[in-house]
Amino acid sequence: MELTPKMQEALERASRIVAESKHLVALGGAGMSAESGIPTYRGPGGLWTRIGEPDPRRFQNFAADPKGWWERTLERDREAPESPDQAQFRNSMQNAKPNAGHYALVDLERMGKLQWVITQNVDNLHRAAGTKNITEIHGNRHLLRCMGCNHRIPREEFEIDPHYLPPRCPQCGGVIKGDGVMFGEPIPPDSLAMCVKQANRCDAMLVLGTSGTVYPAAGFPLHAMRRGAQVIEVNPYPTPISEMVDMALRGPTGELLPLVVSRVRELLDQRSGSNS
Ligand SMILES: [Zn+2]
Repeated sequence: MELTPKMQEALERASRIVAESKHLVALGGAGMSAESGIPTYRGPGGLWTRIGEPDPRRFQNFAADPKGWWERTLERDREAPESPDQAQFRNSMQNAKPNAGHYALVDLERMGKLQWVITQNVDNLHRAAGTKNITEIHGNRHLLRCMGCNHRIPREEFEIDPHYLPPRCPQCGGVIKGDGVMFGEPIPPDSLAMCVKQANRCDAMLVLGTSGTVYPAAGFPLHAMRRGAQVIEVNPYPTPISEMVDMALRGPTGELLPLVVSRVRELLDQRSGSNS
């Protein structure tokens, strides 16, 4: 993309905020995944726009009868082929690769300039890129989670015996479900606690490709701002928080974040040069 002088100035200011931060947190949303080819759920062309929103009582149904839920799910996986829309969505998830925005966050983490990533995405792309310190607030589609103790297990390492349902946690015997947070399901308490801790601790926050409308994640930038943290938004589109943030960069995270990272690197090099 072509950078106007105004945009260059915004990038410079954002880079300085990042370089000077002591505890930077990044909050990522669907826009980051969309840049990797994963369709969004809502909005034009979104999965739910085409096939309808999932049942809002999905979690209650699971919690009321986990055995029956697992039986129906395994049965459906064996027998009923999914709709073309669902198949397309599943394929785009399975084939998606991290993009330059995901890798830019890994670079910042390795430079010691990014302390935590909070993502609303379930697609595992941050971890696949190499991010270590992360909370997936809506879960991770590659994991299973114990309802009792929150222990998470990679799906591929856990064999589900159809004769003994629901599957049980090897640590505490609790009921196992997918880690992805269902409609109607509370955010897992350990995830929520970590997000609150990070929002309480940060002195700067990157808000990346998220419309800032889905709670609880939408509350974190507002909370950080109230505490005096500097908030930088990177999004191709204006959002409800655009008017409030310290800096709004208009464009895809995959294009803008690498520019921020290279400028932060220069600033840090200058600083260490002048210190020695
Ligand atoms: Zn457990």
